[in-house]
Amino acid sequence: MMKSLYLDPVKCTGCLQCEMACSYENTGTFNPAKSRIKVFAFEHEGRKVPYTCTQCAEAWCQMACPVEAIKVDPATGAKIVLEATCVGCKVCTIACPFGTINYVADSGKVQKCDLCGGDPECAKACPTGAITFVDADWTGLEKMRQWAGRANTAVL
Ligand code: SF4
Ligand code: SF4
Repeated sequence: MMKSLYLDPVKCTGCLQCEMACSYENTGTFNPAKSRIKVFAFEHEGRKVPYTCTQCAEAWCQMACPVEAIKVDPATGAKIVLEATCVGCKVCTIACPFGTINYVADSGKVQKCDLCGGDPECAKACPTGAITFVDADWTGLEKMRQWAGRANTAVL
């Protein structure tokens, strides 16, 4: 069975170890600004909410791409961006309802979570168990709905 990231905001302390690990894995630097997972702070409520691509079963970014630069990794089910094919048009960033595929000015391409090839660094780095890599028994949209409910946010 494919696995997917499960994010539990109740357990998140906002330490940003996940962002640091993601940045290091993908850029070789500890720069949270370059992370593909983001931790949002809801200051008034004192809550932190980790957030990244849920690898939707029917991925709107993939369907919107005019040059077929987003493919499915058959090993993990992750939607991955083929940098050599991507022309940086940003259509996918508009198509994604969750804002989890982002344009990178340095490269002129987009980036998104690719599940680190099946061994996500963010999950390994999280000290509280707020990020786990579990059997994927939901579609991406259903996962996001569940996440939104737990986080008490209005994503959908
Ligand atoms: S590493 Fe875990 S606890 Fe720390 S900010 Fe990320 S999700 Fe939250
Ligand atoms: S930015 Fe790249 S991946 Fe996104 S729709 Fe355009 S060509 Fe496809």
